[in-house]
Amino acid sequence: MNGPNVFDHIPEQAYRELEAIVGPEHATANKAARLAYVGRGFDRQVYWFHGDCRMPAAIFMPKTVDEVVRLVKTCNRWKIPFIPQSTYGMAFSSPYARDDVVYIDMKRMDKMIVDDMNMYVILEPGVVYAQLQGEILKRDLCSLVPGGGGQVSVLVNAFLCGMSIYNYRITILSGRRLNGVEWVTPEGDVYRLGSLASGDDNWFWQDGPGPNVTGFLKGLSSWAGSMGIVTRISYKLYPFQTEKLEPTGMGADACVKLPPRVQFYTVSFPDEPTVRKAIREMARARIGACVNRVPAYWRDVARARGDRAYVNTFWDGWNKTTEEEVARSRMLRVLLVGYASLKQLQYEERVLMDIIEENKGTLLRSRQVDETVFFAANSQGMWKATQVFGECNGIMESPRCIEKCDDLYRERMYKYQQEYPDDFLHQKNEYPWYLSVEFGRIYYSELQAWPYGPKIDPTAPEYDAGNAKRYLEWRYNTGLQLSMETGALSFFDGQVQPVGEIAKVTHDYSIWLERFKKEFDPNGLAAPGHPFLVDKFLNESHPDVINEKTRKMQKEVAAARKGWLGNRQA
Ligand SMILES: Cc1cc2nc3c(=O)[nH]c(=O)nc-3n(C[C@H](O)[C@H](O)[C@H](O)COP(=O)(O)OP(=O)(O)OC[C@H]3O[C@@H](n4cnc5c(N)ncnc54)[C@H](O)[C@@H]3O)c2cc1C
Repeated sequence: MNGPNVFDHIPEQAYRELEAIVGPEHATANKAARLAYVGRGFDRQVYWFHGDCRMPAAIFMPKTVDEVVRLVKTCNRWKIPFIPQSTYGMAFSSPYARDDVVYIDMKRMDKMIVDDMNMYVILEPGVVYAQLQGEILKRDLCSLVPGGGGQVSVLVNAFLCGMSIYNYRITILSGRRLNGVEWVTPEGDVYRLGSLASGDDNWFWQDGPGPNVTGFLKGLSSWAGSMGIVTRISYKLYPFQTEKLEPTGMGADACVKLPPRVQFYTVSFPDEPTVRKAIREMARARIGACVNRVPAYWRDVARARGDRAYVNTFWDGWNKTTEEEVARSRMLRVLLVGYASLKQLQYEERVLMDIIEENKGTLLRSRQVDETVFFAANSQGMWKATQVFGECNGIMESPRCIEKCDDLYRERMYKYQQEYPDDFLHQKNEYPWYLSVEFGRIYYSELQAWPYGPKIDPTAPEYDAGNAKRYLEWRYNTGLQLSMETGALSFFDGQVQPVGEIAKVTHDYSIWLERFKKEFDPNGLAAPGHPFLVDKFLNESHPDVINEKTRKMQKEVAAARKGWLGNRQA
């Protein structure tokens, strides 16, 4: 069944030892199964198109922490590189450009225990957000659901990104939502961090005696499996309201009907400064559950409803929209929740209406259903218009900084699109997507450029080498330059942007990444190359992508060591 060349990449004896740990039914070196693990999701397509994604040599699915420890120790004995993966939404685990890695697939570790009195959940990597939300909404509790959707691992998301539209009242820094962490190091030792340092019945609070080193595993960016395997966490839950979100619709129309205490408001503002002012006033008045500035083309994404005619429906709508229409109608989506009572919602609604009126906004009709905030059932829609999820960078910083960065991105994208109107989805001079989070203290934004899949896929007849090259140049240079100019912090360092390049112009934190990695993973086996794989991809396959302007800026910033170019007065 496995075919003749199965053990080309790892010794058969090693495979047999690893297989014995999980049992033969939970191990495979079958080519068809291995093919399913080649990543092409999210923006991994970039690596796939360039031939950097490979099949793993074999896959092992442990059920217990003890099995994980034994797998990791056996890999160390045989010097076999291993990569944990849990739900594979981001398919992050693939751009390794090597054939000798094995995957430790954590899906079978899927226990979840909810403590609704103390508002936390203990869960393993196989539990996805849809399962968590399904359980806790019944108990009047809520969590966030990331853009990746209800199908991604809660645990992995907490260590990868951990951000969502619903972070207006819940901290967006996922490390702060962790009470305790059980961690198997790259050499197979088990550590218990956070409140677990005080014993097994301490999952309910966040800290223990002495320093809490949870932050070692999760800062703003991610180790992406290169610091071993997390097997269990205690994750904070948050109070919601008591009325039911009623499921309705089928297939692409599946959503939930919102009860009177949970309501959406869609508002059109005449220009960007007024939207920005209104958002600040909402934060000052302490109202809102989500405050989401939606780019105009998203309306057509939403209207297309994810059906089979999606692409045509999207383009029929978006092609008719003019730049002038986009400029006249800057769209804000606000969710209000009466957490304490209907009266709270009514109060917040009155405040919102005042803010809209004072800022010349127009309230539009909103269907009182949700498919995004509580379930994120529509995340695949992100691919369908151009067949690529085109991200340049994701950033979080103060409102002032994000606004500056978004202004510059919009300006540069518009200029680029004058010269190359057909390279990316034309954004018609729209601003990037941004959110007000943590009651307006922080803003979150995604700088998106959507290339057309077939044009950047070397195997497609429509392939356009010039477009493919310009996409890489845009993605890396624009991302790095804007971070240097404005100080906007990327949460995509190592995932989308090259850590080594940006670290040079900050406080050289890549030195510390390397030191810790060497200390905990002397054999270099856990997710080898991460978090420097994007650097490797650029250095080895596309050394000319980072342009002279970026290099010059890096030198200036690094030499001055006085802060960012955009912040010289600091
Ligand atoms: C369209 C789209 C939009 C997205 N938008 C958002 C967003 O708005 N906010 C947000 O927070 N996220 C977002 N994401 C990311 C998404 O939420 C992640 O995919 C998810 O957090 C991780 O789940 P996964 O299935 O990708 O994990 P996997 O692919 O299984 O793993 C991801 C990484 O974590 C490592 N890993 C896996 N399991 C473990 C483990 N047990 N211990 C240690 N390391 C492990 C893997 O090696 C890999 O590097 C988006 C993704 C997509 C596809």
